[in-house]
Amino acid sequence: MKIGILSRNAKLYSTRRLVEAAQEREHEVRVVDPLRCYMNITAHKPQIHYKGDILDEFNAVIPRIGASITFYGTAVLRQFEMMNVYPLNESVGISRSRDKLRSLQLLSRRGIGLPVTGFAHSPDDIDDLLATVGGAPCVIKLLEGTQGLGVVLAETKQAAESVIQAFMGLKQHILVQEYIKEAKGADIRCFVIGDKVVASMKRQAKEGEFRSNLHRGGSAALCRITPEERATAVRAAKVMGLNVCGVDLLRSNHGAVVMEVNSSPGLEGIEAASGKDVAGMIIDFIQKNGKPNRTKTKGR
Ligand code: ADP
Ligand code: GLU
Repeated sequence: MKIGILSRNAKLYSTRRLVEAAQEREHEVRVVDPLRCYMNITAHKPQIHYKGDILDEFNAVIPRIGASITFYGTAVLRQFEMMNVYPLNESVGISRSRDKLRSLQLLSRRGIGLPVTGFAHSPDDIDDLLATVGGAPCVIKLLEGTQGLGVVLAETKQAAESVIQAFMGLKQHILVQEYIKEAKGADIRCFVIGDKVVASMKRQAKEGEFRSNLHRGGSAALCRITPEERATAVRAAKVMGLNVCGVDLLRSNHGAVVMEVNSSPGLEGIEAASGKDVAGMIIDFIQKNGKPNRTKTKGR
């Protein structure tokens, strides 16, 4: 097959591993910077131009679209979808997963276990909002944060009120969540491909920190997950409409709850922790499913 990888940087671990895995399986592969794609939207023939060429050779594309370029990156991916190129993840699924609130709403509609979460716009509703999530301690999140930045643990009601007021004053959208203390600073990353969790790892926050993000100094280790956790992760991926994703779970005393679903999960941590060739499994999935007209949404 001819596979395109939409990535800003060919040197990133995940991009390099996908290139290697594709080449090992005798596919032709090319890394394309989505910000250098430009498009021509006409009635009969959607096209994508790239540094003077026309990109019309791919059978499949792997989007590795960072949060900061979601808008343009998903537009480029949607254009490939219009051209009947198979996307590993569809643009609609990626857009859904980038909006924490939208994701939680879609997941809750399908009865997937979530931390009790509230959101509000007006400072006048803060009191009630806090009450709906069980008061302090609680976690306050910027809707557009990544890598644990913009996630705050408020230990007291007073702290929660001032943090919420500050974010609202800055015109930032936030959500407020029950603090899952019993998770003890750990979360479980389930790497889903198709209808399977192919690898999982436990990420533990460093001493004195509640956020387990590797970017915040957390450490990763292999972990076993229960059949229920496995089923929850696979269902969450399905609800989001993602073929490949990282589903982050917290172990709460009301069962495993989904914290977020990541549509461009990194490969470095999970391959190191699990010792598995996750990149190879992604390419195998494309080989099996990457046929024209397999796209469900095409931007819908
Ligand atoms: P980001 O998308 O920025 O990584 P997350 O929502 O994943 O933000 O939160 C970052 C980290 O904070 C999580 O990995 C988890 O360890 C911790 N965390 C987030 N929400 C909660 C919560 N409700 N209860 C306990 N810990 C949480
Ligand atoms: N096409 C809609 C969307 O933009 C479907 C609604 C949904 O997300 O389930 O996502």
